[in-house]
Amino acid sequence: MQSSSRKELRAGFLGVTSVLLDDGDTRLLTDGFFSRPALHRVLLGRLAPDATQVEQGLARAGVTDLKAVLVGHSHYDHALDAPEVARRSGALVVGSSSTANLARGYGLPEAQIRVVMPGEPLVFGAFRVTFYPSRHVLPNAAAGEITAPLKFPARARAFRDGGCFSLLIEHESGKNLLIQESAGFVRGALSGIRAEIAMISIAMLSRHPDSYRRAYFSETAGAVGAKVIYPLHYDDFFRPLELLPRPMPRWMDDIRPVLDSLERWAGERGVRVGWLPAWQMVPLD
Ligand SMILES: [Zn+2]
Repeated sequence: MQSSSRKELRAGFLGVTSVLLDDGDTRLLTDGFFSRPALHRVLLGRLAPDATQVEQGLARAGVTDLKAVLVGHSHYDHALDAPEVARRSGALVVGSSSTANLARGYGLPEAQIRVVMPGEPLVFGAFRVTFYPSRHVLPNAAAGEITAPLKFPARARAFRDGGCFSLLIEHESGKNLLIQESAGFVRGALSGIRAEIAMISIAMLSRHPDSYRRAYFSETAGAVGAKVIYPLHYDDFFRPLELLPRPMPRWMDDIRPVLDSLERWAGERGVRVGWLPAWQMVPLD
C-alpha cells in the first residue's frame, strides 16, 4: 500500500467489517479479522486467532503501528483476531465488556483493553471515535454476553455478541464516517449525528423483506445524512479475502436482492453506493 500524505484520510477494506483508516499520522482498524476459518472448522471446531493469517493480513495492508482496534460486537467474525492484532501492533482493543473478556482470555494486558462508554468519545490523534448502542441483525447465532475471560480455543458460539454498536468516526479534516457492523438498528439512536460516509454491513439482509432493509438504511446511513454508502460484510468469510472479494454463497446469504433494495433506496435520495477495493487504501471523498 502507498503511504498516505499527512491528514488525507484514506480507508482500506480488509474483509467482513474490517476497515483500516489512516490519515498519515494515526491508524485505526475496525475488528481486524484475518483468520477467516473454513466453515467446517467454525461449525465443528474451536477457534483461536491464526497468527500467520494475522501477520500476513497486517503486512498486506501495510500496517506497522496501530492506535486502536475498534470492535463493534464480539462475534468471532469480528472480534476473534482483535487481541492478536493488538499484541502485534501495540494497539488498544476498544469495545464492549464482552470484547474486553475475549481480549483478556487471550492474554492481552489490561493496559491494552478499553471498555467503551456508549456516547462518550475517545480521541486518537486527529480521530474522535464514539460508540452508539445498536442491535444485531436477526438471526443472531450467538446472542448474550461473554461474562468471564474467554478460554481459547473456543467454539464459535462462545463468541457472544456482547451488545452491538454503531461507530461514529470523526476526523479533524471534517470527514465523518459511520461504520455499522451488523444490519440491526435502534430507531432514532443516530438522530442528530452527521456523517457524510456510511459503511454498513449488509449481511443477513437477504433474510428480511424490503421494508426492513429500507428501515435499516434509513436508520443508519439515512439518519446521519450520508452522501455515499460503502457496503461491508458481503464477502465469503469462510475463504481467504481476494482482491475481488467473493460474495457469500447464495444459499447462505444472497446479496443480489439486497443490493437491489439498496440501489433503489439510495437512488431515491441521491446517495451514491460505492465499493471499497480489498487490500488497497483509497482516499475518502
Ligand atoms: Zn455478528
